[in-house]
Amino acid sequence: MDFAAAADVARTTEHVLAGFDDDYWRTHCQDRKHPAELWQALARADLLGLGLPTDYGGVGGGVTHAAALVEATARFGRPLFSLLTTYICGELLLRHGDDKQRARYLPGIAAGECRFAFAITEPDAGTNSFAIRTTARDDGVEGLSLAGHKCYISGVDQADVVVVVARTTPRSDVDDRRQGMALLLVDPQAPGVSMTPMSIEMPAPERQFDVWFDDVRLDHGCVVGEPGRGFDYLFTVLNPERLLTAATQVGIGRRALDLGVRRARERAPFGVPVGSYQAIQHPLAHAHAQLEAAWLMTMHGCAEYDAGRSAGTEANVAKLLAAEASQHAFDAAVQTHGGAAFDDDAGLTALWPLVRMGRIGPVSNEMVLNHLAEHALGLPKSY
Ligand SMILES: Cc1cc2nc3c(=O)[nH]c(=O)nc-3n(C[C@H](O)[C@H](O)[C@H](O)COP(=O)(O)OP(=O)(O)OC[C@H]3O[C@@H](n4cnc5c(N)ncnc54)[C@H](O)[C@@H]3O)c2cc1C
Repeated sequence: MDFAAAADVARTTEHVLAGFDDDYWRTHCQDRKHPAELWQALARADLLGLGLPTDYGGVGGGVTHAAALVEATARFGRPLFSLLTTYICGELLLRHGDDKQRARYLPGIAAGECRFAFAITEPDAGTNSFAIRTTARDDGVEGLSLAGHKCYISGVDQADVVVVVARTTPRSDVDDRRQGMALLLVDPQAPGVSMTPMSIEMPAPERQFDVWFDDVRLDHGCVVGEPGRGFDYLFTVLNPERLLTAATQVGIGRRALDLGVRRARERAPFGVPVGSYQAIQHPLAHAHAQLEAAWLMTMHGCAEYDAGRSAGTEANVAKLLAAEASQHAFDAAVQTHGGAAFDDDAGLTALWPLVRMGRIGPVSNEMVLNHLAEHALGLPKSY
């Protein structure tokens, strides 16, 4: 595990973030505006080129380095959904895109000029991605026609490209439910794409959207890899996505813990700091231990993935532990604050949606446990 490299990335990230104060961040979250100056500063520090080869303007490294980046942004109170989706879509193109697609998009990612959104969730399918109804029909001559409805799509209004998961062959015509799906590179401003913001409170610059595709015309160059194999490709990047989600949750949990410890040192209703009582110390210390263990597992999973292994079990364990650890850290911080936790100025109310989201998306802890039961323990598939 390359802890030193991860620590270097974290230090550089902290240095960049220190240039953008709370007001800058709050304004962009309130206005749901892309923090362009911050994004450019991350690019100038080579942090957006992590995981990309130098041939494409990147600086090399892998998911280990990207995890350090997203952990630091979350710990600093600057979580960005688009950092994670852009990294994962870059990884997808690196692994499965053609030369033209790589040359078109990857240098832009590294330079901070190309951001991605990712669209798989649909109102009726939800967790069951195999049941999606969005279709991409090939007319045999000019290209494809995309039609369907996605929901919860983060930052699609600010993205340059959205990777859309769609069916190319009806479910009834394929033997395996994984077949007959495509990953499509779509311009969110293309004719036929419309979007409406959902009413979701998240302390982040990106909003979530309902997105409709109404006969969106796409040429064949928009398809990643072979048209029917989209799910195979997607499965190769689910583990790094889970690892980056775990890293984000560790960062959010550490932020909550920092706030809790600070309050524990300062607040003294009986003349001594509340942090001197074991009833307050122990939950904080316990949360610290859980966050450290989750981070270690995240780094272990990243090292496995960067060494060319799938890291399925490691990524799922890390995601589960990190989501639980951040929730425990948050709860300990709230209890330490007492009533003050509910004052927005304490910084905890803003963290709550981010903490709780960690157990739901991009994959829920129930699905993570399903995966571990089936693949790590060899138990029968339960659904
Ligand atoms: C803030 C936010 C941002 C998001 N960003 C994006 C995005 O950018 N792109 C995108 O495509 N999606 C996005 N999503 C969607 C997110 O990935 C889904 O909400 C998540 O995958 C869960 O799906 P669902 O909400 O449909 O839950 P449902 O499928 O309705 O599930 C409900 C509950 O049942 C449980 N459950 C379902 N099936 C099983 C089973 N077989 N075994 C055990 N338990 C089960 C689930 O774990 C869950 O707890 C976002 C969501 C939010 C809230």
